[in-house]
Amino acid sequence: MSTAISLHDIKPCPICNGNNVFCEKNLERESKYFVLCNDCGFEGKEFFTRGYAISNWNERIIKSR
Ligand SMILES: [Zn+2]
Repeated sequence: MSTAISLHDIKPCPICNGNNVFCEKNLERESKYFVLCNDCGFEGKEFFTRGYAISNWNERIIKSR
C-alpha cells in the first residue's frame, strides 16, 4: 500500500481529514503534478515537480490550523 507516496509524506486532506491522498501527474497540461484526495475529490495546486506539489499541500494543512 501507499506505493505512490513513498517519496514524501503527504499529510491528510485539509477538507475531510482523510488519508486517501495521492500525488498524481497531469498528463493533459504539461505533465504537472498535483495532490488529490480520493475521499472528497479535493485537489491541490499544480506544480512542475512532485516535491513542490506535496510540500505546498502540506503547507496548506499547517496554515489552516
Ligand atoms: Zn478529502
